[in-house]
Amino acid sequence: MESRKEEHIVMLPFMAQGHLIPFLALANQIQGRYGFKITIATTPLNLRYLKAAISKNSNSTQIHLFELPFNSCDHGLPPNTENTEALPLNQIASLFHASASLELPFRGLIQDVSVRDGSPPLCIISDVFMGWATEVAKSCGTANITFTTGGAYGTAAYVSLWQHLPHRGRDKDEFNLPGFPDSCTFHITQLHHFLRAADGTDYWSRFFQPQIGHSLKSFGWLCNTAEEIEPFGLDVLRRYTELPVWCIGPLLPPCMLSRNSSRVIGQHTGREPGVSPEKCLEWLDLHEEKSVLYISFGSQNTISSSQMMALALGLEDSKKPFVWVIRPPVGFNLRGEFKSEWLPPGFEERMGSSNQGLVVHGWAPQLEILCHKSIAAFLSHCGWNSIMESLSQGVPIIGWPLAAEQGYNAKLLVEEMAVCVEITRGVESSISRDEVREVIERVMGGGHKAEEMKKKAGEIGELIRAALSEEGTQKGSSHRAMDDFVSALLTNKQGLA
Ligand code: UDP
Repeated sequence: MESRKEEHIVMLPFMAQGHLIPFLALANQIQGRYGFKITIATTPLNLRYLKAAISKNSNSTQIHLFELPFNSCDHGLPPNTENTEALPLNQIASLFHASASLELPFRGLIQDVSVRDGSPPLCIISDVFMGWATEVAKSCGTANITFTTGGAYGTAAYVSLWQHLPHRGRDKDEFNLPGFPDSCTFHITQLHHFLRAADGTDYWSRFFQPQIGHSLKSFGWLCNTAEEIEPFGLDVLRRYTELPVWCIGPLLPPCMLSRNSSRVIGQHTGREPGVSPEKCLEWLDLHEEKSVLYISFGSQNTISSSQMMALALGLEDSKKPFVWVIRPPVGFNLRGEFKSEWLPPGFEERMGSSNQGLVVHGWAPQLEILCHKSIAAFLSHCGWNSIMESLSQGVPIIGWPLAAEQGYNAKLLVEEMAVCVEITRGVESSISRDEVREVIERVMGGGHKAEEMKKKAGEIGELIRAALSEEGTQKGSSHRAMDDFVSALLTNKQGLA
């Protein structure tokens, strides 16, 4: 495709790590392939995360950043906390609502860009949660594209669930969902408790319903998935949105796709990990191929103290080596006080001295870990980025969905992909050390189920690589979708001129 370097795209991610990372990856791809100018607009704290990530990634140096002013305190939030990860769970709803206050400065940015460039940007790519950007795009004479950083199946379920409230008070725990065929049933326990309680008038509904509604009026959607890995979910999403959906993902760092590199070093997230990648890899080198369990609940979620205790005891009983990214449980502070209430006495010391476990506090170099040959399985909250990173390496999943669309991601992994065993759901469920040990054994013990899951995860990994392939003359489906997307934008611009 002819390169049109004068084109400019402005991006607006939501203020969460799992959204910033794919937005930056998308910006890199578009900039690298088409030479367009890309500006990402976000708030000061998130800008700092992006700057740190960009400084570690030579591909990103062409990306422009624009600061949208945001005073956390004006919205009743502690200073400098405008990222879901920096906030306690009970304040995250306020951050969602506060994100709408960015409309005015964002509109100012688009107007400035239009004056400076002599025409409006080619498009605005906004997060599915920043639906108000569709109105900005419309009034500024450009197209709005919604980027859903999740997969197709999870996004379709999430959108339909918010649009068809309420879900409480059903006669049965199992139910059908508009947009999904009757053969596909959902269970009330797969819904996060905000959704279970929502009725259209509560604080959460008053955010999600309009934002999703606006996003459904976009020019089209970009989805962080590949055509081949979610045919069913994509069919549902396309029929539900009645919009073009371009599958341009999963947006993984290229180093994860190389077959030649024995190890991946260089975190892309802009976060300081609790252990250096080198030390982590040294520890993993001590262990046999496909023997280690990696455990992480993503960038913002954590489990309850009793669940954490059961997980620690079950892990110890399993005798399997593990890397566990620990954040204090719900209701406990980041200073790690009252640790004896959520970790067995002497747990970290025992695991450290026997080399059974590496406990990482706060943030882990996840890509480096997942790419290491010793990793056998990933106990994950089923955040979309995490599961794509895992499956790209052929690593099967033990699912423990906690929030957002994670319950439907887990359903996809279990029912459609057969690469996952769900251990439990949410922070309120009770789980015993024996259940933890049994699930670990089922997934890592070498039995029939374990072998099948490993095989399936490997197959999905191959499909992901094929979709993202640029080798030879045949471009993978995600690259073709990106070309189609850019062509549609250029054609639209000609029509508007
Ligand atoms: N991540 C990481 N280290 C951590 C936790 C998370 O590098 O300790 C990265 C992970 O690789 C992924 C992202 O943060 O790219 C988390 O996104 P995901 O969609 O999995 O979950 P979320 O945090 O949005 O719930």
